[in-house]
Amino acid sequence: MANPILAISDLAKSFGGFIALDGVSLELQEGEVVGLVGPNGSGKTTLINVVSGLYAPSRGTVTLGGRPLHGGPPHRVVRSGMNRTFQVPKSLGTLTVGENLRVASAHGAQRRTLEGDPLELVGLAGLERRFANSLNASQQKRLDLARALVTAPQVLLVDELGAGLSPAELDDAAGVLRKLAAAGIALLVVEHLMGFLAKVTSRVLVLNAGQQIFQGSLEEAVRDPQVVQVFLGG
Ligand code: ADP
Ligand code: MG
Repeated sequence: MANPILAISDLAKSFGGFIALDGVSLELQEGEVVGLVGPNGSGKTTLINVVSGLYAPSRGTVTLGGRPLHGGPPHRVVRSGMNRTFQVPKSLGTLTVGENLRVASAHGAQRRTLEGDPLELVGLAGLERRFANSLNASQQKRLDLARALVTAPQVLLVDELGAGLSPAELDDAAGVLRKLAAAGIALLVVEHLMGFLAKVTSRVLVLNAGQQIFQGSLEEAVRDPQVVQVFLGG
């Protein structure tokens, strides 16, 4: 195997005495997509927050392209080639779509540029002049994705892109993620919707109460007794 673009090793995060994440390890190759699944509160967003440098880890390491990240800060992580989207999109509502992208690109990678037009990639072509707060929920999620893309990430952490989308919008969103992976971007995709995940990857990491309880193929995950128990609450 080639050297992984992202390597997470034994990552842990506590808030006070509460352990939100405990010993998660993962390697991602260029262009590879891994689904991150688990019940509400299992630590999925916390993993993204720690990997992207928003929170310092309590234990463990993150390396990007073989270089240790030492826990942020986020803008430096973005410049190193990794970006993330937010479960609740964080666009600047009173700015236009185009202005949002310009603000984001000011924090972008210094040596790489994105191939292709980010708005076209996410299906928002022609909406540059619209105010972000006039977009519908699906469009706001796409804008959040475009804001991350203008920084030309090698690794993109995607937090619940599918939540609240219609079946047709989900298909579109899955197509966008497949395109990004085909362009060589490594993706960690947090998602509740297994049908959506199945459209973008066959490899998953399952969290429960901050612990990694399964890593492997989606097909095996849905037959794994521990995974089944967690998801069916049995
Ligand atoms: P998920 O994204 O899987 O739904 P989260 O990672 O958001 O779960 O949360 C995991 C657990 O960590 C939850 O119990 C949550 O309340 C807790 N948590 C997350 N962020 C913080 C924080 N900044 N301070 C305290 N507790 C937090
Ligand atoms: Mg979450």
